[in-house]
Amino acid sequence: MAGGVGAAKLLAGIVKVIDPKELTVIGNTGDDIELHGLHISPDLDIAAYTLAGIVDKTQGWGISGDTFQCLDALKTFSGFEWFHLGDRDLATHIFRTNLLRQGYSLSQVTQKVCVALGLKTTILPMTDDKFETRITTKAGTMHFEEYMVKRGAKDEVLGVEFYGAEKAKPAAGVVEAIENARRVVICPSNPVVSVGTILSVKGIREALKRTDAVKVGVSPIIGGKPVKGPADKLLRGLGCEVSAFAVTELYADFLDVFVIDIVDASEKERIEQLGVKVKVTNTVMRNMSDKVELAKTMLET
Ligand code: GDP
Repeated sequence: MAGGVGAAKLLAGIVKVIDPKELTVIGNTGDDIELHGLHISPDLDIAAYTLAGIVDKTQGWGISGDTFQCLDALKTFSGFEWFHLGDRDLATHIFRTNLLRQGYSLSQVTQKVCVALGLKTTILPMTDDKFETRITTKAGTMHFEEYMVKRGAKDEVLGVEFYGAEKAKPAAGVVEAIENARRVVICPSNPVVSVGTILSVKGIREALKRTDAVKVGVSPIIGGKPVKGPADKLLRGLGCEVSAFAVTELYADFLDVFVIDIVDASEKERIEQLGVKVKVTNTVMRNMSDKVELAKTMLET
């Protein structure tokens, strides 16, 4: 189960440890947004570009070496463009939107994208249905990307809303993938707006509780802080503390093992009282060797 950049780092390690064909990624679509009439799926694309080896490694999103001529031209017409879309990246969104308009589901389109990029791994959107993460701040309620990218995640989070969660069903194959898995890995992703969104789709949490698979998560919070991104603001917005313990609480009803960083070793006992086993190791992925080591821990613990 994967969000964006944090998850992609671990996915890159996992496909070095197991046959990529054996991996199914269940991706967050709460960040999906329509811009310029195009359907953008940021987290699904980060996973696909990373596994295809074409991701822009500095940003962690977009395509390496991409140019921004189309976006520059769009600025002529519409002024400020806050969401960065490269020229080659735009081709993915044009392809996706065109097929969605022809009646294909997001999971069918995602499969076509993965095949075209030469991936052996299956990437499934959590749902094919309309779903949008909205953040409430003093400036109002807005799409997650507006909070995150346009406003730079600077606002205090007063609430998080999963628009569409009431009706959204898991995409075809999601529940089966969880039920038939030997292991379910919860990537180091935002526990509220990446893993939290996936878990809010009715049927997914139940499948996680039901499956015989070993469920292993890794903390995106290290030493009381996120490695990157606004997970601290979002956890506080839900009234949670910012710690590995607080993340475990959100997953405790289905999780078997939680991997925490060495700097958080003192939290082990408190977390184990939630009924979740704890493995303490380095969880900071600075290079490929870190990614592979963490992947081994996630798959072998
Ligand atoms: P992103 O903001 O698009 O990357 O969204 P994600 O849902 O992938 O969330 C990123 C989360 O992963 C943040 O909370 C980070 O703290 C966490 N993260 C990023 N890199 C690492 C890492 O190397 N190790 C661990 N343990 N967590 C990480």
